[in-house]
Amino acid sequence: MMGGHHAACGAAAWVAVASTAPFALGWYPVSPLGVLTGALVTAGAALLPDLDHRSGTIANSLPPLTRVLAGWIETISGGHRRGTHSLLGAAVFILTAIWLGLATTDVPEFGDIAVGAGILSVLLMGFALKSLKLAGGPVQSWLLALGLSCFIAVNAPQQHDWLPIAVGLGVLAHLAGDLITTGGIMLLWPLRLKRPRPFARVPGLREIWKPGGCLAIPLLGGTGSRREWALLVPVSLYAIYGVTDAGFRWLAGLF
Ligand SMILES: [Zn+2]
Repeated sequence: MMGGHHAACGAAAWVAVASTAPFALGWYPVSPLGVLTGALVTAGAALLPDLDHRSGTIANSLPPLTRVLAGWIETISGGHRRGTHSLLGAAVFILTAIWLGLATTDVPEFGDIAVGAGILSVLLMGFALKSLKLAGGPVQSWLLALGLSCFIAVNAPQQHDWLPIAVGLGVLAHLAGDLITTGGIMLLWPLRLKRPRPFARVPGLREIWKPGGCLAIPLLGGTGSRREWALLVPVSLYAIYGVTDAGFRWLAGLF
């Protein structure tokens, strides 16, 4: 799935779970401002798994930091669509978010500042800006990412566990998005269950279980296919609807 589409899926997932607007599930209700900041974080977190190849778009979002990180992660995770696209990878991302979510500080007049979330958000906003082609050059990317991260740190949802929920939703939305493309993902990495040769002749199974051990439910076909676009137009509109609704409710609360 394309980067911008991953980001849209992440934001839409947060709107569905955290907004109380019509057509949202409202399972984890947060304030209107929390819907806005959480949608930003989840959109960025939905790109985290692709920080696993040093020449990828995400690796070039905030140079030189993201290039160095991508190089490390590529080595540790065994390459693109391996460790970071697995259940173990998702668990590591969520545990990191739990740890960073604990770092908050109380500042007079501003209240609770989510310091850990703000630091992580610098990266996540860099990814989101790059994938949505809103960044421009490296200097603009850094400045925009830093500005948005300060906004998130100050206006983060008040719930203590929002950061791991947002990061978990974003990462799982990414895994689901890549799972339904032809390439698939190695969900059980580091277990690499290679497909036995006779299975290659079984229609249906050969598309789902790849020879190298990847799993795919190829509903969308290849990355960037027409079917992917057909799915992502309504998903993006839903994310825009949820964020706009939260923006209006926040503004209404100010007056
Ligand atoms: Zn991916």
